[in-house]
Amino acid sequence: MGEAVHNKRASVDVEFGALKCPVCGDMYLHLEGGTFGMPSPEDGAGAVSYTTVRTSGHVSTTLEPALFDFRPGVELVFWCEHECIVPRLSIKNRKGFTLLEWSYE
Ligand SMILES: [Zn+2]
Repeated sequence: MGEAVHNKRASVDVEFGALKCPVCGDMYLHLEGGTFGMPSPEDGAGAVSYTTVRTSGHVSTTLEPALFDFRPGVELVFWCEHECIVPRLSIKNRKGFTLLEWSYE
């Protein structure tokens, strides 16, 4: 969420209740982990706490300066059975609006 650079974005598409890969359109996505970004309680609006969880059970937390356009939310990382490049699903929230968007390189 914080350090990743994404250059393509796509709207979220669902079929039979299952997420479709934004690259190939198929439904065989496997959840690999996710990052949860929230304002740090200790540092107020000046810093963001990112907690990352992987399916291996590994958990890590980093503290980064808050960016101007920071929105609290979650970014889920998947791998696709068709070897599409690391699709990420972000769920961000701002002033009551919740935004869902795919990003991938
Ligand atoms: Zn795919």
